[in-house]
Amino acid sequence: MDTDQFRSLGHELIEWIAAYRDHIGDYPVLSRSQPGEVAALLPHEPPLRGGQMDDVIADLERIVLPGITHWNHPGFFNFFPSNTDLSSVLADLVSSGLGPQAMNWQTSPAATEVEDVVMEWLRTMVGLPDSFSGVIADTASTSTFTALLCARERTSGFSQNGGGLQAERAPLVVYASDQAHSSVQKGALLAGFGAAHLRLIATDDEHALRPDLLEQAVEEDLAAGLRPCAVVATVGTTVSTALDPVAPIADLCERHGLWLHVDAALAGTAMVCPEYRDMWRGVERADSLVLNPHKWMGTGFDLSAYYVRDPEHLVRVMSTDPSYLRTTQDGLVRNLRDWGIPLGRRFRALKLWFLLRAEGVEGIRARIRRDVGNAAWLAQQVDAAPDWERLAPAPLQTVCLRHVPERQAGDEAALAAHNAAVVARVVAGSDYYLGTADLKGRLVVRVSVGSQPTEREHVAGVWEALQQAAALT
Ligand SMILES: *Cc1c(COP(=O)(O)O)cnc(C)c1O
Repeated sequence: MDTDQFRSLGHELIEWIAAYRDHIGDYPVLSRSQPGEVAALLPHEPPLRGGQMDDVIADLERIVLPGITHWNHPGFFNFFPSNTDLSSVLADLVSSGLGPQAMNWQTSPAATEVEDVVMEWLRTMVGLPDSFSGVIADTASTSTFTALLCARERTSGFSQNGGGLQAERAPLVVYASDQAHSSVQKGALLAGFGAAHLRLIATDDEHALRPDLLEQAVEEDLAAGLRPCAVVATVGTTVSTALDPVAPIADLCERHGLWLHVDAALAGTAMVCPEYRDMWRGVERADSLVLNPHKWMGTGFDLSAYYVRDPEHLVRVMSTDPSYLRTTQDGLVRNLRDWGIPLGRRFRALKLWFLLRAEGVEGIRARIRRDVGNAAWLAQQVDAAPDWERLAPAPLQTVCLRHVPERQAGDEAALAAHNAAVVARVVAGSDYYLGTADLKGRLVVRVSVGSQPTEREHVAGVWEALQQAAALT
């Protein structure tokens, strides 16, 4: 594509995206596309000759748009907020336009140094002390996997340089709560610990990890000759945003020499507001921590922030030093290829830089407070409504609730079927997209608030839709 064509189509596409965002609320929030429908609209063969860009916008509307679920829609209440502020759309455009590959400092010094600075900004924004150093990863899954690899190498005294875990005298063990995200299990398995050496510790009535049971599990493993290695504490669990008590878990980790990784993928964003930081009290004692600006904060996917207390250890685990990657600045600068798993890196830091320039720390705080306030309002409505109940505290932006008709009280199977049907009715018949999840054997309806255009009226709307659906189901 030449620059003339780029210019004209590029301007049209910016217009197209702007118009899409202006009218995003008019689309059905959940794509109505059936399996195979999008693929069937594409040709079987790739275009042989170029010069076929004329119809591209028409094709986006005809083929792609019907197959999009609109995460930035005001009626999006499923999973977690994944906001892509328009400032970060432009940053992605710039990043691609410049096209740097930021594996080494020298391969684009600005990519490394903007990342250095914005990760320091983000660290202070969420109140972390300067004992932490940050690096951008693609996802929390990768960050948690990286943390478990670092934990493995610390406990095993760098087994990777010898026989690996396969040569260890006794198995290493990882601990998390039974509410931990699936990425913890995946990371532990991929890091070679084995499912038999992952302990999912039971949680209390508020769904937070019980430190007493954690202590007991560690003691039992020690008595059995196993080697406790790492604990993953979750601040803001996936189903209910439960808050594992970091401080007592950190005490235990220090006592036993365990690696403490804090998974605050969603909730970390809330810590931009000082009044919520009590929720992760003790976090400064973690060995590593992940939070995802690509969720609630507003940098488009993907941008996960990984912080460590001992960057030298991270680099020792991650670095390789082949001759063809050496540069004369090595030793003076950060070569971010040594701070994570992939060699190649995109210039993601631009997205956070643009977002902060556009929205400011105060702008992000205002949005977080609005969303927490809206979730608290919904929690109050549920608490006040006969025949409805809440199954978890709602400290942040997720409310777990269900309808309990008198005829079904106490019958878990019937309640699960009923509430699943209520949600299906809402999703099929309205402009709200929400989901259900299993919370320790009970099916909960999850209302996850926090899409950028979601205001109180939309939260009131989904509540109204739930009540109407319940009355008809
Ligand atoms: C979303 C989430 C993850 C996974 O995040 P990815 O960036 O998609 O890997 C992990 N843990 C928690 C607590 C989450 O909320």
